Amino acid sequence: MSEDRLKLMEFKSELLNLSFSSIEDERDLKEFINMLKKCLVQHFNIKKCDILFVENDTLKQYKSAISILEQREIPQMVEARASIPQSLKELFDYRDFTDMVLLREGERVFGLLLCQSSPTWKKFSESEVFCEFVDNISKFLRAFIHNLEVRTNEKKFKKLYSMTDLFHSTMDIDIILENVITTIQENYSEFEVELILSNDQEQKTSLKIKQFDYLKERAATVEAFVSGKITIEKSEELNSCILNAPIKGRQAIYGIFQVKAPIQYVFSQKEKEYIAMLTHTAGNALENAKLYHQSHRLIGDLQLINETSHRLNSELDIVEMLTFLKKQLMKSFQPNELCFVFAEKECFQLANASTSLFKSVEGIFYIDFVAKHFEKSKDSLFIADFSRLISSDVKFKSMMAIPMIAGQKIIGFSIVLHEDAYFFSFDSFKLMQSLIHHSSLAISNNILRHKLQEMVDHDHLTKLYARSYLDKFVNQSLTNDESGMFLLLDIDDFKQINDSFGHQVGDQVLIQIGEKLIEEVGKKGICARWGGEELSIYVPNISKSEAYHLSKKIVSQIPKITVPKVTVSAGLITWHKQNRPEYQQLFLQADKALYVAKNSGKNKVCIYEDVRALRP
Ligand code: GH3
Ligand code: MG
Ligand code: MG
Repeated sequence: MSEDRLKLMEFKSELLNLSFSSIEDERDLKEFINMLKKCLVQHFNIKKCDILFVENDTLKQYKSAISILEQREIPQMVEARASIPQSLKELFDYRDFTDMVLLREGERVFGLLLCQSSPTWKKFSESEVFCEFVDNISKFLRAFIHNLEVRTNEKKFKKLYSMTDLFHSTMDIDIILENVITTIQENYSEFEVELILSNDQEQKTSLKIKQFDYLKERAATVEAFVSGKITIEKSEELNSCILNAPIKGRQAIYGIFQVKAPIQYVFSQKEKEYIAMLTHTAGNALENAKLYHQSHRLIGDLQLINETSHRLNSELDIVEMLTFLKKQLMKSFQPNELCFVFAEKECFQLANASTSLFKSVEGIFYIDFVAKHFEKSKDSLFIADFSRLISSDVKFKSMMAIPMIAGQKIIGFSIVLHEDAYFFSFDSFKLMQSLIHHSSLAISNNILRHKLQEMVDHDHLTKLYARSYLDKFVNQSLTNDESGMFLLLDIDDFKQINDSFGHQVGDQVLIQIGEKLIEEVGKKGICARWGGEELSIYVPNISKSEAYHLSKKIVSQIPKITVPKVTVSAGLITWHKQNRPEYQQLFLQADKALYVAKNSGKNKVCIYEDVRALRP
């Protein structure tokens, strides 16, 4: 056997030794390559050597993110040995290298063995066994790489399988997203992985998720989102190679998985396929989960709408109604602020149920904006970022405003606000529209009923309460309150006023007296038109002396404020809880006192207690 063949045999046996080392992952392979290099150095007595691989059209150390050369610069020699290309020699690390051996698989060059020659090496490389040596080392490396690839693929697909399995067993969107993030992160531990989800995702998750923003996202990201295909962007400014994989279901694209690698990194076709498969599985799982939640939510929404319209159509007054609706809206959409505004004769009236913001100047700004919109359109407003719309900074960025329409007319609207942009989902918007739509008719009916009741309760001419309202009020007070006063007033010689000045002037006098009564009584009690030119006052919880004082004041004030001047006579009755009178009795007694006042010179008030002994 020749000396060279012997050297080859010895080398082969060392290779065999190396082959006992177990290769589980890329770290092991790197270690293995280092051992191989050491073995070559010792065996051929060379100073240094290196092994480079052709990966994704570039030349690099095994699985390194740094490419050493582009494919086009890799020599395509037929010979086993070749001289080192100039571009490689110019690189610092390879300055002292003299020899280069091409490692092939079939025709394809998959790697290079570079070394600094030695006499042993020179002799061996010129021998007839050198080709066999190159062939052996090539096959050996290929076998190991292949083995590792199979293992990694197996692991990857096992992961994908267990992920798919998990996805089939969960409807929890958080778990699905978290799993995809960790799976991709595990595969690309040295790269930055980010999940960008479109706006209508409702997130109550602790995961780090970015909102997809059409206006701010990079063009390649938007392209991936729109086209549903993976895009890769080499960004000089970020010094990164960015891969965007759409999370795609059958019905829609829900977001993007972004992997940021160093700019030199090249994603292989296999990697792209794997990421696509992963995101596609995630997309489908996400879609299933969403549909599942959606169907639950739809049922929930229907129940909510049903319950709300049911409650609103029951015997609630408008205040109870709006309080109930507010509770439902607060519970469903969790806004920071909420209001109900009703159209009233050319202007808007804020309902009391509205939150405090709207009672301030800051809140009026939002109401004005919405009111202006509804002057022109009946369309609801769904604003994700108000500050962007009006290009100035506002506290509340998310807004939904829904008109209340009854009989083709906007009778009012409701606004909900939140400080965060993109807070309300489109589903919330649809639900709020539905809720307000189903409540509008009940609210409008209630407002009409309220107006009608107001009309029934008030006297048309004087705007004082009507007799029927007074009756109810006094009856309630007689049962619930501690004490009270009832004053019956009659205009003196009113017939003459009518006769001298006309009926219309008489009406004006009635109005003037009505206004004075309201002014004097204020919120303490109520003023009513008893009938004809007779008016009355009822004040609950008032002492006898206060009652007398008030009555005297009124009687003395009326001639001062009426034009033409009139005087009034009045009969007063007070009561205390020790002796609760009947309403009818109260009236008769006041009437008796009034009668005495009329017959004792008019323009005065008489107290029933003082005149009860007198004969009618
Ligand atoms: P006195 O009460 O001092 O005894 O004399 P009087 O002239 O006020 O009494 P009388 O009961 O004779 O007349 C009441 C008048 O009040 C008759 C009626 O024309 C007038 N009157 C009643 N209701 C209205 C009304 O709504 N508008 C006007 N202008 N007059 C009214
Ligand atoms: Mg009268
Ligand atoms: Mg009179």
